[in-house]
Parts: sequence; C-alpha cells; structure tokens
Amino acid sequence: MAAETTRFAPSPTGFLHAGHAFSARFAAEKAGVGGRFLLRIEDIDRTRCRPEFETAIFTDLAWLGLSWETPVRRQSEHFDTYKSALADLERRGLLYPCFCTRADIQREIAGAASAPHLHMGPEGPVYPGTCRHLSKAEQQRRKDEGTPYALRLRMDEAANGAGPLTWRDQTRGEQKATPEIFGDVVLGRKDTPASYHLAVTLDDAVQGITLVTRGEDLFAATHVHRLLQALFALPVPAYAHHRLRVDREGKKFSKRDNAATIQALREKGVDPRRVGV
Ligand code: GLU
Repeated sequence: MAAETTRFAPSPTGFLHAGHAFSARFAAEKAGVGGRFLLRIEDIDRTRCRPEFETAIFTDLAWLGLSWETPVRRQSEHFDTYKSALADLERRGLLYPCFCTRADIQREIAGAASAPHLHMGPEGPVYPGTCRHLSKAEQQRRKDEGTPYALRLRMDEAANGAGPLTWRDQTRGEQKATPEIFGDVVLGRKDTPASYHLAVTLDDAVQGITLVTRGEDLFAATHVHRLLQALFALPVPAYAHHRLRVDREGKKFSKRDNAATIQALREKGVDPRRVGV
C-alpha cells in the first residue's frame, strides 16, 4: 500500500459514535506505513458546534488508540480563506446571491409546470433558479434592505468552463464527474461564509491530502468537489468511500443516539480495540 496523506474530518455537533470510529480507523489505516494521518475539525456551523464536542473528539480518538499529526486544522479559524475563494468566483461571474428561503424554494418547485421529481439532486430538489436572473440593481436593493442571502454557483457556466472531469475512486474505479446533478449549489451559506463543499475542498488541498476517505453517503458530493478543484486549479486527490456502519437494528448511527457514543462505550468498560472495527 502506498503511503498517503489522509484525514478524519468530524463536525463537533455531537458525540462521536461507532460509525465515526470506523471512519477514523479507515482513514488512519489508509495512510499506510510512512503516511500521514491528519485531523480536521469541521466547525463552520457556529450555531450547532460546541467546544465540549470538540474536546470529546480528541479524547475519543486517543482512547481508540489513534494518533494524528498536529496542528489540527479548525475550519472556524479559516473563514478568510473561504471568503477570498468566494470573492474570486464572484469576480469571475460564477456566483450569484440567492435570497430565497426554504419555503420560497418549495413553493416555486410545487408551482413549476414540470414534475418536481424530475429535478431531484443528491441534496434534495434542485434549486429552480429563482434568483439566477435578478438584475444587479435588484440584488443591491435586497442586500441594502438587509435580506439574508446565500451565494450559489452558476453550475452550467462553471461545469461547461471546466470541461470533462474525472476522479479516481479506490472503491468504485474511475469516475466521471457530473456536478450538474446538483444544480446551482450553495457555496456561501446565509449563516456562515462558507459551505461544506467549499471548505472541505479547499482544506483538503491546503492540508495536502492525497487520499480522501469518507463514508459513501458523501460519494455524490465528490462530483461538486471535483468541479471546485478544477475552478481553483487545485491538486486532485484520490478517493475511497467506505460503506456505512449500522447499529444492531441495521440503522445508520446517529449523533442523537447517546447509548451508541464512543464515550458511552468507554464508560461501560468496552475494549477500545473492539470499537469501530
Ligand atoms: N465533516 C463531515 C462529517 O462529519 C465529513 C467531511 C468529509 O470527510 O468530507 O460527516
């Protein structure tokens, strides 16, 4: 196995559970002999992240017997990086402000002439493009009014400009990127000047990640990440999406299920070598 630089990138929005333990072990193992295993705290969502969850991440991973290189990258310390990447796309005419609320979007989709199920993307219904054609004056008027807005990517222009893209997936082989299935994705959220897609792609490049490992629930997101790599001329890592661990009832582990947390297993005296394997 080649030496790789991998990372585990949890969000401190709850306690880690056995599914995370599996994912962290997977990333650490994939680094291989002589490789590097890094840790990243994905805390752009300032309302849901809590310091005690972050502290628990370190305690839990150490208890599992994992060690990672320092420094740990904490996304909330890099909002300037995300903002300047957004400003760059904005200068290139690839972003537009979207003032829609969730309810506006649902109403628009329900009222659309064609069947809404035809416009389902990996993250739910594809944005119908309501704010795509607002004039500069109208955009400014709403901004001046203080209406909150997200920043969306002009997907067609971005994808056409980038041309055909592929990535190498260790689990599924060579993949053709089709980011268009997402429609105009949000890259700057209303509540935080970044988005999962933007932050994760930039950070993987900054941290020099050569192999991105994560659960297969995030497989589709890689289409968008591959496009962002092309837009920002970033190196393209390989990917390994692993199966998702399920609990005894066959359900995905949930951060809300306190009995399944690593902390609870530790307190019960479970052998850490048996957790997440
Ligand atoms: N922060 C994401 C999570 O908690 C993982 C991001 C990634 O590995 O790309 O599920």
